[in-house]
Amino acid sequence: MYRIRFHGRGGQGMKTASRILGSAFFLQGYEVQDAPRYGAERRGAPIFAYVRAARQTIQERGIILEPDLVIVADDSLLPMPAAGVLQGIAARTVLLIHSAETPETWRHRLNIAGPLLTLPVEAEQHFAGTALAGAAARLVGVITASALEQAVRQELTGLGAEALAANLDQALAGYERMAPQAGLVRECEALAADACPRPDWVELPLDEADMAAAAIHAGATSVEVRTGLWRTLRPVIDYPRCNRCWWVCSEFCPDSAIRVNAEHYPEIDYEHCKGCLICVAQCPTHAISSIPESSEAQP
Ligand code: SF4
Ligand code: SF4
Repeated sequence: MYRIRFHGRGGQGMKTASRILGSAFFLQGYEVQDAPRYGAERRGAPIFAYVRAARQTIQERGIILEPDLVIVADDSLLPMPAAGVLQGIAARTVLLIHSAETPETWRHRLNIAGPLLTLPVEAEQHFAGTALAGAAARLVGVITASALEQAVRQELTGLGAEALAANLDQALAGYERMAPQAGLVRECEALAADACPRPDWVELPLDEADMAAAAIHAGATSVEVRTGLWRTLRPVIDYPRCNRCWWVCSEFCPDSAIRVNAEHYPEIDYEHCKGCLICVAQCPTHAISSIPESSEAQP
C-alpha cells in the first residue's frame, strides 16, 4: 500500500492535489482513499490531505501516521510544530518540498538523512497543487502520464478550458521533473489490525460542576494569535484610488484586521490579516489588490 500525505495552507490546492493523485491511482486499477483534513479556518490555515492506494481492499482508516511520501506545498510550515509535517517520518519516507531553497539546505535545516527532494517554486505560480500531484504520480512510479492527464481533466474540467490547460501543463511539468526519481517511493505492506497496539484505557476523573464548566478567564486573547503568519497572498491598498468608504472594507473583514485612521483611510493590520482577500473582492473602487506574500518578503 502507498501512504501519501500532502501538507499546505488552505487555498493552495492540497485537497485538489490529493483528488488528482487518488483519481490517477484509480485509473491505474488501484483501490484508493483520498481525503482532506482541515478545521474551521480555511484560506491560509495549515491543512493536510492524504491518499492511500493499494491493489487489495484497504482496511486502514483515518489519518496517515507512517507516510511513504510527504509533500509540502509551503515550506513555511516546516518549522511549525502544530502543522505536523514531519510527523511519522521514517528513514525510508520520501520528503518533497515545494521551495526556492535547495535540497541540501533543507537536509541541513531538518537534519534528515532519508530521501529529500525539492520542486522549485516557479515565478507567478500561485497554485502548486497540480504540479505537486504530477510530481507525486512520478515518484510512486506506477502512474502513467496519460492516467495523470485524465485525472486532471476529470477533477478540473469545471474550471474552464484556459485554467484546465494551465493546470495540465503544470501537472505534466511536475511529472517530468521527477523522472530521474521515478519509483523512489516504495510501497509498504498494509498493517493487519492485530499489529496495531490497543489503546490504553484512559480514566477521566469527574470534576465538580464549578471546575468542569467552561470558563474564559481573560478577554481579548485572540489578539495573541498572529493569523498574519497564515497569509500566502497579501492585500495592498492603493491609497490614491481609495475613496474612504471605510465602512465597506472594514466591515467585511472577518478578522477585524482593517482599522480606520483619523483621516478615515483604512489601514491593514498585517499581524492579523490572514489573507482571505474578501476586502479585495468587496472594494468598490478596486483600490485593494493582492500580491504574493513571498514577493513582499523579498528586499
Ligand atoms: S472599500 Fe476600498 S475604496 Fe473603500 S475605504 Fe476600503 S479600500 Fe478604500
Ligand atoms: S484585511 Fe482583507 S485579506 Fe486580510 S483578513 Fe481582512 S478581509 Fe481578509
